[in-house]
Amino acid sequence: MDILKKCFDWDYVKQLRNNDTYPYFKSLEEKLGTETMVSSTKMIMIGSNDYLGLSNDLRLIESAAYATEKYGTSSSGSRFLNGSLILHQELEERLATFLNREKAIVFSTGFQTNLGAISSLIGRNDFAIIDRDVHASIVDGIRLGFGKMKRFRHNDMLDLEEKLNSIPSNAGKLIIVDGVFSMEGDLANLKEIVRLKKKYNARLLVDDAHGVGVLGENGRGTCEYLGVENEVDIITGTFSKSFGSLGGFVAGDKDVVDFIQHKARSMIFSASMTPASVAATLTALDIIETEPQRRARLWSNTNKFTTHLRQLGFNTGLTETPIIPIMMGNTFQTFLFWQELSAQGVYTNPIISPAVSEGSELIRTSLMATHTEEQLHNVLEIFELVGNKLEMIQTMHENVLMKS
Ligand code: PMP
Repeated sequence: MDILKKCFDWDYVKQLRNNDTYPYFKSLEEKLGTETMVSSTKMIMIGSNDYLGLSNDLRLIESAAYATEKYGTSSSGSRFLNGSLILHQELEERLATFLNREKAIVFSTGFQTNLGAISSLIGRNDFAIIDRDVHASIVDGIRLGFGKMKRFRHNDMLDLEEKLNSIPSNAGKLIIVDGVFSMEGDLANLKEIVRLKKKYNARLLVDDAHGVGVLGENGRGTCEYLGVENEVDIITGTFSKSFGSLGGFVAGDKDVVDFIQHKARSMIFSASMTPASVAATLTALDIIETEPQRRARLWSNTNKFTTHLRQLGFNTGLTETPIIPIMMGNTFQTFLFWQELSAQGVYTNPIISPAVSEGSELIRTSLMATHTEEQLHNVLEIFELVGNKLEMIQTMHENVLMKS
């Protein structure tokens, strides 16, 4: 049997391309922040994770350029041997202080962070107890460590307790959740998870990729926002979202982070963050610490946008954050809606199975501190226009009436 036969036979993407409905790997011709260019057409970007609008901030660009001049374009090696710059160390110390943790280390991406940290901690005889909706990198980290995996229904604390109860009491247990769930924008029920973690003598890791910089009075993320920072053992995150850069981090007790630093294969056998990425991240951290008004603006945009979408009759699920899903319920409707929005100049993300379970397909939007009132007003008008054109708004109103 030819191992490549499955590739030649696979026509799902070919069909989408033939129908001109293929929505992925879109090449952006310019990066303009809240606006972008695709196929020479200007679009309002409402599908980026650049929550604070920092990826185009001149201060980040300048510090990245300066670091490139000083240290070059590549670190040319892994942290372990020849790719550690004084800048990496500075960022790690600054992060640990910012997050009130004993130690932090940085990886080249958020994905590599979870892969390395989790596979270091979860061995063959250990159990990872995870929410069904956690990020793919968490699942892959558990697989890489050959750990045992128990999944509980999304944010279902009864199911979490059942899973914890089913594990031998002397086995090592790590509960892992996203702080903010990346597809639907809802929060982990961290207060209850902490109660169960203590009851069952487990440890807790929170991947706060979408929370740090966004949530909490000081931007320390979901754990700060929910008042559980002291109860969460390990935090992981990324610099590709609110930090407007590239890379990831893990923070926690010194011994735990030290252990990960010397075990994580995705750190030891991979080149470190580039000088430009580290410098941009350091500047972003300065801004996160000193410009709370950016966060305030992000939240004001988020609240207005979500309220208006709900008033129009769109189902935005249980979001509590700048990630705002518009529930579609099937793949066809998702692609259709996405295509109409694109044609009207609005850039969004169509999310289908397996990224979400079947029946939960959605259009994902995410807001930025730098969106103007006018941009959001225009986007809402287009949502209303498209919703009416596809007779979705009426159907959604009817569904609400039927349920009430
Ligand atoms: N965790 C979560 C919850 C994420 O949403 C993402 C990015 N989609 C990652 C980890 C991976 O981060 P990165 O893009 O830096 O690899």
